[in-house]
Amino acid sequence: MKIVEKITAMQQRVHRARQSGQRIGFVPTMGYLHAGHMSLVAQARRRVGDNGLVVVSIYVNPTQFAPTEDLAKYPRNLERDRRLCRAAGVDVIFLPSDSDMYPGRAVGQYSTYVVEECLSQGMEGASRTTHFRGVATVVAKLFNCVLPDVAVFGAKDWQQAAVVRRMVADLNFPIELVVAPTLREADGLAMSSRNAYLSTAERSQATVLWRGLVEARALVRARPKGVPAGSLKKILAKRVAAEPDARLDYIECFDTSTLVPVGRVRPGSHLALAVYIGKTRLIDNAVL
Ligand code: AMP
Repeated sequence: MKIVEKITAMQQRVHRARQSGQRIGFVPTMGYLHAGHMSLVAQARRRVGDNGLVVVSIYVNPTQFAPTEDLAKYPRNLERDRRLCRAAGVDVIFLPSDSDMYPGRAVGQYSTYVVEECLSQGMEGASRTTHFRGVATVVAKLFNCVLPDVAVFGAKDWQQAAVVRRMVADLNFPIELVVAPTLREADGLAMSSRNAYLSTAERSQATVLWRGLVEARALVRARPKGVPAGSLKKILAKRVAAEPDARLDYIECFDTSTLVPVGRVRPGSHLALAVYIGKTRLIDNAVL
């Protein structure tokens, strides 16, 4: 396994791989890797085959964090990430620096961003107004650095995957996008690097996201004609309010592929929510 830091070196590495007939599989991450990330690596390997080149990027992208968010304290553990990647058969870790990714940004000399104007507006985009501009920009840049045939994203960040899919289509990236299922802890909590922030008391309250999704699924499946979105949201908001350290950011019920909110929630509708547990903001989603 190689660690590549420079963008030009990364581009040369994949150029050589492609010339020798290898397909390139890519998993972009912000590091502090867990089994959810590694399941994306396994998908990438499956797609490009034993002979393919699997690249994982580890980059905590500053442009997707608002100034008030957790950029500075985002968890990092490169040694552990390296071990996990080596054990999973990753070929290359791409580890770019801020100065290589955004040259001149600190002095106002970086000025090109990618803005998706439709799918990025609600939910995460409404709560974090510059988030998806940062995500689309960094993913476009990483695609240009790694030049993959296949890129794997997690369903855990459903809206992000939808925004990236739209960007790939709209900007003609010749890349196949794969969205892999959310990996969960035994009690249903979606695996996330941010779970590391939770105290013991917060950790047990954090299952309220999954409990809410399971309850919503049961309610909707018992009424195939649908449940009014407002009633469902009220029930889930109550469950969140019952946890002493939890504060609801949003709940949305929407069409899985268009992300358009639905008035009646039916089996097959999608539900997403964001909840602060103490200072930690967690998100989750599922098809009902
Ligand atoms: P992050 O490092 O949080 O930016 O995540 C990198 C990629 O891993 C994104 O495509 C996420 O959707 C995906 N991911 C994060 N958590 C999980 C999980 N629990 N299961 C599956 N994929 C995940």
